[in-house]
Amino acid sequence: MVPVLGLLFALSAAAPQDRAVVLDIRTASAVEVEQFKHGAGVRWWVELGTRLVVGGEPASLRTLAARGSRLGEIEAIDKDDLALRTISCALHEEAPGQLLVQSGRWQLRRLPAGTELPPSQPGHDSWRRLGENDILARQYRLDAPAGAMPDPLVVPLVARIDAARWFSDVTQLASWDRSSYGTTSLNAARDWIGLQMQGLGLAVTTPGFSMPGAGGGSITRQNVIGTWTGTSLPNEWIVVGAHYDSRNSSGSSVTNTPGAEDNASGCAGVIELARALLPFKPRRSILFMCYAGEEQGLYGSTRHVQALQSSGDLAKVKSVVIMDMIGYSADSQLDALYESESAYLSYLNRFGAAAAAYVPALNVTISTNPFGSDHMPYLDANKETVLAIESDWASYPHYHRSTDTPANMGVNAQAMGAAILKTNAAVLAELSGASDRIFADIAQ
Ligand SMILES: [Zn+2]
Repeated sequence: MVPVLGLLFALSAAAPQDRAVVLDIRTASAVEVEQFKHGAGVRWWVELGTRLVVGGEPASLRTLAARGSRLGEIEAIDKDDLALRTISCALHEEAPGQLLVQSGRWQLRRLPAGTELPPSQPGHDSWRRLGENDILARQYRLDAPAGAMPDPLVVPLVARIDAARWFSDVTQLASWDRSSYGTTSLNAARDWIGLQMQGLGLAVTTPGFSMPGAGGGSITRQNVIGTWTGTSLPNEWIVVGAHYDSRNSSGSSVTNTPGAEDNASGCAGVIELARALLPFKPRRSILFMCYAGEEQGLYGSTRHVQALQSSGDLAKVKSVVIMDMIGYSADSQLDALYESESAYLSYLNRFGAAAAAYVPALNVTISTNPFGSDHMPYLDANKETVLAIESDWASYPHYHRSTDTPANMGVNAQAMGAAILKTNAAVLAELSGASDRIFADIAQ
């Protein structure tokens, strides 16, 4: 899990102030979470997925804190100085204020008293004041109906996800530098992805798009699309996508960009999902996609949506599943974040339910505050779209570094990747009609 940073700060203001307590609620029940929020002396709280921050009267909160799994305390806090920062995977620059808590896509920061909210930078970060009792992300299990049962007809499909095979593909992709500013090794990765898709019987295309080059002007790069044509509903499309480009801390370097976790993990995941689904001959069409140009501003996915608009095919797209960083877990407890717009809450909940039924070890957090990856262009085009990302991505020490290698993804990599892929496979089985028997939602 994302570590809580710097929880004790010196008193600098004289005003009467609250104490805030940060609780790890990964194993708390829904009743316990409510009790924490309504404990004696609590004046405000914010729920950030697996973290709950409660603030209020200092003496009372000392006892409340003793009851939960307490990660830390923040002394002498004025709620009005607190701000929430939503962070994208383009996060690098130092941000104003003190980082108090980081969880999933959010940072809770304390700004100097009386200062303005920093301006939001589209695609990079966005800021808002702490509202009254906010839930920014919620663990699915807290509201889940009891007794999730696997469907015996879907189990064999989910069982096809092979963690070792996926990780070997991650390793292969990470052997190439994949900065979108490069050419030779980026193209080698592109061609290898196409060959894997071809080998699975998909029709492969590599449509080009232009994006800004590192030194000005524009460059042309390619997405890779492997198309499965649905057996009975070929005009209903599902998109399964992940970016194959990578970067390191310099942003423009074309060497030392292994990008194993970000995002060979997701790209290899697209291929692994094709392997799981295709033997079941999906009724709907599926576009298995790997994008370039994500790290510079979602160019590949944006251009794909534009191409769908201009070809008139956008209406055929029913659902989209995007993966970005799916193979890192800071500890053996596996946590994943699924995010979309609130309009697609029932779609999000399908992933929580699938994890509960097929991968009970995976703790799914649901967020309706989407941000900063290849899901955004599809959401902007009003498509039912989800991003799957491990909850611990921002604490991955090798994130956007030349050391983002398969070995550095750590001992939990295969378990983490397989958990997200199995969850996605179960939902995609239903979405795509991947078996004559599985689909109940299509007219027979
Ligand atoms: Zn990424």
